[in-house]
Amino acid sequence: MVTLKSERELDLMRKAGRVAAQILHETVALVGPGVTTGELDRFAEGRCKELGVTPAFKGYHQFPACVCISVNNEVVHGIPSPKRILKDGDIVGLDFGIIREGWYGDLARTVPVGSVSSEAKKLMEVTRQGLNCGIEQCRDGNRLFDIGFAVQKHVEGYGYSVVREFVGHGIGRALHEEPQVPNFGSKGKGMLLKVGMVLAIEPMINVGGHEVKVLSDGWTAVTVDGSLSAHFEHTVAITPSGPEILTLFPEGENS
Ligand code: MG
Repeated sequence: MVTLKSERELDLMRKAGRVAAQILHETVALVGPGVTTGELDRFAEGRCKELGVTPAFKGYHQFPACVCISVNNEVVHGIPSPKRILKDGDIVGLDFGIIREGWYGDLARTVPVGSVSSEAKKLMEVTRQGLNCGIEQCRDGNRLFDIGFAVQKHVEGYGYSVVREFVGHGIGRALHEEPQVPNFGSKGKGMLLKVGMVLAIEPMINVGGHEVKVLSDGWTAVTVDGSLSAHFEHTVAITPSGPEILTLFPEGENS
């Protein structure tokens, strides 16, 4: 069941998206060599309290933290820890969501720790561009798999691969609503996209093969071949005038 959001509901989702983006923006600003992923998580949780919103991931299927923090070859769902110290040259993905007045906002981005290799920089940039290619397809009358097709075409053009096991999703009063939004697929296939749909688009892109496995902690997904992985996400509404990103960073940067 795909829910269509009214203008009033969309306005509540804009507010939720804005707070989620604000908190992630502030958290990302703390990333640097010597910082632990546990500190980043604690900071985000504190900001949720101060701003009167609920972290969306903590307790979701028993996930133990507010932010999923995934380093280097970790793809998604990394568990923050006071023992995990970021070091110069790492790349770190932060995936974060909140609930405000019953409505969800969800976004992710991958950022450098100190100075990183040109390969890592390129992966992050191409993944960010891939997300934007997907967002561009979020238009009334397009088909669901137009989104994944656009992402896949872009990133595979650079020799990267699209993770298959994890996909984007509808979002609203629940974190994961229908439909699932793969980051791969055939143009012109899948359900018709309509005004009022809100989708979290979230490509996870690997330098090497697309295969991933989940570590024994039950959460952290890593690339099977050990290659670097990046993840960017926005919550996007389909409006009569095209895609509207609800989780824009405060300065208007779109990823
Ligand atoms: Mg998501």
